[in-house]
Amino acid sequence: MSSNVGQNYPYTSEIESDRAAAVAAVIEAHPELAGTIATEATPLDASERWWVWKCPTKGCRGLLHAAGYSLEKHAVFVVCDGTCAKTFLR
Ligand SMILES: [Zn+2]
Repeated sequence: MSSNVGQNYPYTSEIESDRAAAVAAVIEAHPELAGTIATEATPLDASERWWVWKCPTKGCRGLLHAAGYSLEKHAVFVVCDGTCAKTFLR
């Protein structure tokens, strides 16, 4: 990818069980993220399907999975399942 255009648009979507499994796997690999999510995000509402975004970190091929809402609820708090394991708001 040579452009940043479209980066904030969802890449795909996933069902709730896939999302939960992806986030659980990220937290298992990076336990400190559990604390970050607990302090910076609120739990998600029940939903069958969630958007997935591509990670914007250079060189990271991860995908961003919804892990909660930002405290203001204006954005979805997402975690990267790739090498950077960063969190973002979408
Ligand atoms: Zn990443």
